[in-house]
Amino acid sequence: MSFFNSLGRSMTRGQRPKRSPTPTSATFPPTDTVSQNGAPPSPTVTAPKPLYLCSPFVEAALVKGNFKTIVMLPKYVDIMEWVAVNIFDFYTHLNEFYGVITECCTQQNCPTMSAGLTLNYTWINQDRKSVHLPAPTYIDYVMTWVQNLLDDENSFPTKSGQEFSPSFPSTVKHVYRQLLRVFAHIYHAHYTHLLHLRSEPHFNSLFAHFLAFGREYELLEVKDVKGSASAPVGVGLLWEKWKDMGLLEG
Ligand SMILES: [Zn+2]
Repeated sequence: MSFFNSLGRSMTRGQRPKRSPTPTSATFPPTDTVSQNGAPPSPTVTAPKPLYLCSPFVEAALVKGNFKTIVMLPKYVDIMEWVAVNIFDFYTHLNEFYGVITECCTQQNCPTMSAGLTLNYTWINQDRKSVHLPAPTYIDYVMTWVQNLLDDENSFPTKSGQEFSPSFPSTVKHVYRQLLRVFAHIYHAHYTHLLHLRSEPHFNSLFAHFLAFGREYELLEVKDVKGSASAPVGVGLLWEKWKDMGLLEG
């Protein structure tokens, strides 16, 4: 959407997200920093194909056909409102999914915020240092931070007549990147749990919707979906696969 993006680009600085209200969460929001997990990947080692890339799971969805139609801006709806309400929905649904797998996502099972064989996201702490956190801690920080933003009338106004802040576009891009990481971790580390719950059609639909919406309104960078050559994001391949299947566009 040219209007939305031109507005985003015209802003010089994004709003600094608020700190979490809990003392244990007193850290800065994470940045793009990605680090590799120990040794570089060996070209001779081939990992088994993740289940989420395998049939029939990769095709499992509640929505048939292309997601483009469900992300289009409805007539007479303000684009900021449309983005805000969709982010609220993505956050709420993702939080619910994470809630049902939370007992599997423990400090022992997930000592890092993994999202690929060689990819572990890092968090920027209050000393501006990039640190590894257990996935449940990382996700708690992200979800608390997003919840606080959503509750903040200055960031996500809900009263009629109240304008969106000029920093809204950059804020939501930041939110989008972090929610993507939560999706990426769940696919990478907990997909079998979703299969046991037979939730894969629901989760696939939510993620495909999230990707389609993010690309439509340029909230999502391709490099964040795919990662780097040495540390690819697992779900980057899923995105490619869904594009091949005609579910998503570039
Ligand atoms: Zn986990």
